[in-house]
Amino acid sequence: MLKVDGIDVFYGNIHALKGVSIEVLEGEIVTLIGANGAGKSTLLKTLSGLLKPKNGTILYENMSIAGKQAQTIVKSGISHVPEGRRVFANMTVEENLELGAFVRKDKEIQKDIQKVYDLFPRLYERRKQLSGTLSGGEQQMLAMGRAIMARPKLLLLDEPSMGLAPIMVKTIFSIIEEINKTNGTTILLVEQNAHMALSVAKRGYVIETGRVVLTGSAQDLQSSDEIKSAYLGG
Ligand code: ATP
Repeated sequence: MLKVDGIDVFYGNIHALKGVSIEVLEGEIVTLIGANGAGKSTLLKTLSGLLKPKNGTILYENMSIAGKQAQTIVKSGISHVPEGRRVFANMTVEENLELGAFVRKDKEIQKDIQKVYDLFPRLYERRKQLSGTLSGGEQQMLAMGRAIMARPKLLLLDEPSMGLAPIMVKTIFSIIEEINKTNGTTILLVEQNAHMALSVAKRGYVIETGRVVLTGSAQDLQSSDEIKSAYLGG
């Protein structure tokens, strides 16, 4: 579904991604693991069209998307839930969800809002509430719900567990699995919580200072000594 081959991404003189190659197959949950500043968010931003690679190729469903406009990429089926959620604070939960469907022209938007409420009953309870007053976990749910409203085939999630209480982290991860299972949505998940990420993913890539240094099945990564000591707390 997605094949990234040898991309280089720069912020001015800073070489943030150095020849990164990854692949995501249809229906998979794939995770990107790495320390702060490794380049994980940069990779997601490049996939969703917010940054342009200097070299390399990005093929999505056999179509080259490197450097395409973000809106074109959303229309082709890739939705990005950025780090830090960024919901529209002065709009209600329901208005945020409606906005998520801005690229669509079909008549099933209300039906899909209902589906998001089925997935996140908490959002239904809060549907008239201004989004800026939601808790961190609720905002994460809303950001994910809004992304789903674009009916993505590939969902890019950037650190969904960041800053959440353990119980909320569990809820968010079980919903990630449910989105993958029930909608068949392919998911590329960036996480610092390697333990949780590897428990839901099929495969993973480890990124260090802009390079992929290790890849394998989630099971193999979980049992690797290198991963255990660097990312799973020994
Ligand atoms: P984190 O988990 O801390 O978000 P990350 O793996 O997602 O880390 P990135 O945000 O992709 O890391 O950053 C990769 C590198 O690029 C870092 O060295 C960072 O300082 C740099 N960088 C990121 N954004 C910018 C920017 N707008 N301008 C300059 N440098 C940037």
